[in-house]
Amino acid sequence: MGPAERCDVVVVGSGPNGLAAAVTMARAGLDVRVYEAQSTLGGGARTLDFGMAPGLVHDICSAVHPLAAASPFFREFDLAARGVELRYSDVSYAQPLDGGRAGVAYRDLDRTVEGLGADGRGWRRLLGPLVRHVPGVVDAALSDRRSLPKDPLSAVQLGRAVVEQGTRLWNLRWKDEVAPALLTGVGAHAISTLPSLPVAGTAVMLAALAHSPGWALPVGGSQAIVDAMIDDLKAHGAMVTTGAEITDFEQLPTARAYLFDTTPRNLLQVMGERLPNRYRRTLAGYRYGDAVCKVDFVLSGPVPWTHPEVGRASTVHVCGTREEMARAEAEVAAGRHAEYPMTLVSDPTVTDDAREVDGLRPLWAYAHVPAGSTVDIGATVQAGIERFAPGFGDVVVERRAIPAAQMAHHNANYIGGDFAAGALTTWQLLARPALRWDPWATPVPGVYLCSSASPPAPGVHGMCGWHAARRALRAVFGIKRPPSLAPHV
Ligand SMILES: Cc1cc2nc3c(=O)[nH]c(=O)nc-3n(C[C@H](O)[C@H](O)[C@H](O)COP(=O)(O)OP(=O)(O)OC[C@H]3O[C@@H](n4cnc5c(N)ncnc54)[C@H](O)[C@@H]3O)c2cc1C
Repeated sequence: MGPAERCDVVVVGSGPNGLAAAVTMARAGLDVRVYEAQSTLGGGARTLDFGMAPGLVHDICSAVHPLAAASPFFREFDLAARGVELRYSDVSYAQPLDGGRAGVAYRDLDRTVEGLGADGRGWRRLLGPLVRHVPGVVDAALSDRRSLPKDPLSAVQLGRAVVEQGTRLWNLRWKDEVAPALLTGVGAHAISTLPSLPVAGTAVMLAALAHSPGWALPVGGSQAIVDAMIDDLKAHGAMVTTGAEITDFEQLPTARAYLFDTTPRNLLQVMGERLPNRYRRTLAGYRYGDAVCKVDFVLSGPVPWTHPEVGRASTVHVCGTREEMARAEAEVAAGRHAEYPMTLVSDPTVTDDAREVDGLRPLWAYAHVPAGSTVDIGATVQAGIERFAPGFGDVVVERRAIPAAQMAHHNANYIGGDFAAGALTTWQLLARPALRWDPWATPVPGVYLCSSASPPAPGVHGMCGWHAARRALRAVFGIKRPPSLAPHV
């Protein structure tokens, strides 16, 4: 490897966005090389054996895939036709509350509305229009943020819901505490103070997807998604190298296009003075956000949630009421650890009993902590679950935590444990990584950023990579019509 070698396209990083970019370029007939720092491919969508129990595998980062199921990239790539089975529980997510109560989001909107009592009507009025027009909502949310929405009415309805739930108006529609807690828990897939527009955007989009088509878990774990992309890449002649951490441009072969599935900080390090001063200053000022501590458990049985429906959910949001979540997120934003941090929990055996081995099952969890936290909050997460599932400790066989400060050891994009590759502020959602008409292109011709530090947003949807690759195909190779992603082509 080095400038003496030649190819058409270099992709640095093999997360879902890097792979989406590489697949698109390879299918356009270009000679593509992918370089990955880690010993395994797939970035934030890997499923690994941590050695916690023989044969048991854990999703090291992402586990639940409403975005992969809905994303235009993956719809065209057609995961099902490639043997990736996405399974849905009829309970998409749940929010346990004290006193044995819980908010339960069924795939069936009517059933959800029924369970929310006095707030059922408010839930339907907020989400019903979005659920009826999910493709338009997904198009608006995962678009390049530069084109006019294909379905302007859905975009307006989405915007209206985001403004209401992302500002001080957020409590006006609710009478009880269950429905607002249920919605706020979904927003916790983004980390920010509450209420905020980015969290509300995350909440209403994922809440709409929960009702149609649902929140998917791939059989076998997230790795199934990226393995399908790697197979496709190899079938189209791409070369993939692991254990190759890129810190200097001179390490890379000479190519016509370079796509970085990395943070702006790594792009700055690799490109150095090849980038103009002004752009370098912009990248240096790009802000990283608060963080997560990942906590994995091995259990001898299901979590004994007090409310039985909670145990059927693809994801459980653990923290209590909306007010408790707002307090916990405010603590994190102030640089402190919350007593009950915002915690996300998923038991993959809810949809895939083959994930249980010899009576043991993995339980995936993570909780919000301040950026760069070195604290192992495993015991706090366990206590948070125990609050709504007394006796949880009795089924815990083993627990392992990765403090935020160590998250970058297995993925350099998670600076200080920020799994969004950059703070999710309203400004940084629009100007990710810089305020430019083409935010994927850098001022150096042929050099692109394609990670979730570029639009539209974090998550396993491949859209950052797809947007970047299509721009590079047009600008560098003069290919105006993007290649088909369909299997067998
Ligand atoms: C604990 C956790 C839970 C999550 N849960 C979900 C979830 O349930 N659903 C969901 O949709 N999303 C989830 N996410 C977010 C999701 O994983 C990311 O948004 C997504 O993986 C981003 O994809 P990417 O391709 O931009 O980057 P990544 O997936 O982060 O991949 C970047 C890749 O680039 C490599 N790399 C970086 N720098 C270099 C370098 N200098 N040289 C070579 N290689 C390099 C890294 O090793 C990595 O493989 C979660 C993330 C975490 C951490």
